[in-house]
Amino acid sequence: MALLSVRDLSITIGRMQPLDRISFDLGKGEILGVVGESGSGKSLTAMSVMGLLPLIRGRITSGQVLFDGIDLTRLKEKEYRALRGRRIALITQNPMTSLDPVLTVGSQIDQVSRLHLGLVPAEAKARSIDLMQQLRISEAEVVHDQYPHQLSGGMKQRIVIAMALAADPDLIIADEPTTALDVTIQAQIMQILVELVRDRGLALMLITHDMGVVAQTCDRVVVLYAGRVAERNTVTEIFAAPQHPYTRALIGCIPRTASQPGSLTGIPGMVPSVLDYPSGCRFHPRCALAQAVCCDTVPPLEPVGVGGLTGCGLAACHFAGESAPAKGMRHG
Ligand code: SF4
Ligand code: MG
Repeated sequence: MALLSVRDLSITIGRMQPLDRISFDLGKGEILGVVGESGSGKSLTAMSVMGLLPLIRGRITSGQVLFDGIDLTRLKEKEYRALRGRRIALITQNPMTSLDPVLTVGSQIDQVSRLHLGLVPAEAKARSIDLMQQLRISEAEVVHDQYPHQLSGGMKQRIVIAMALAADPDLIIADEPTTALDVTIQAQIMQILVELVRDRGLALMLITHDMGVVAQTCDRVVVLYAGRVAERNTVTEIFAAPQHPYTRALIGCIPRTASQPGSLTGIPGMVPSVLDYPSGCRFHPRCALAQAVCCDTVPPLEPVGVGGLTGCGLAACHFAGESAPAKGMRHG
């Protein structure tokens, strides 16, 4: 059984419906990439799993979020609080949203294991320093007593990762965890995070806009576009044979050198506004393969590969797998 199973999840925020029947599974010890441009619904997916939608007046209107067999959509806030930080930890893009500027960083890591594991202060401090060392923070004892403003961005993000690991969670959700950092630091921190997650056999849901990061770190991937799943598969299969034109475009955006930041400028047009989603396939205004059927019929998420038998891959495209326009040859 999957550790996390998101099934047909739809949410609304006011009159917007930014997620439409999202489904994916994440197994213990697996790293799942959730990828798409900004505005695709990645962060909202994370917030749904963390039970944080009420903060932005969001509401789950259908579907389930099963975590270790528990349907999180039915939890009361008090029950959620027992899970959040303890069994499911969140790492956000900006470390300052997770760090309190007036407390030492060490005391903030200590708090997590004191609160969730019931450690006494000395035990918590020893555990924090050990974690900081595993995150390759040199002079961890000194850094433990420093304040966030005394640390670089990369160091602050290591502290946030230490906080996420401090209660020994089963699942970590990392929402663009390195996007705010310098490119060289990004790669280092991602490598450390992935190593620690793999060593501990944790499940990681890694939210990113960068297919290059997915290729290097993930086992499986779900590609979101405008609040819907465009494609889902193992990383090996999706890179060997991407089926959805949007996935192919994202793969085409992988920078060729490490010093060149990932960019999505290769995909013409913009992600549509949630207030004005196109009819049919939401990618149709940007898709080189679009035909009449794409404008009025939503493509179902269907198995891909020969006869749909090659594995767990799914894509939502009327012309999945076709690489050249084939006007008039098929009709959905
Ligand atoms: Fe393009 Fe049509 Fe496929 Fe959408 S359904 S991705 S518009 S070919
Ligand atoms: Mg986001």
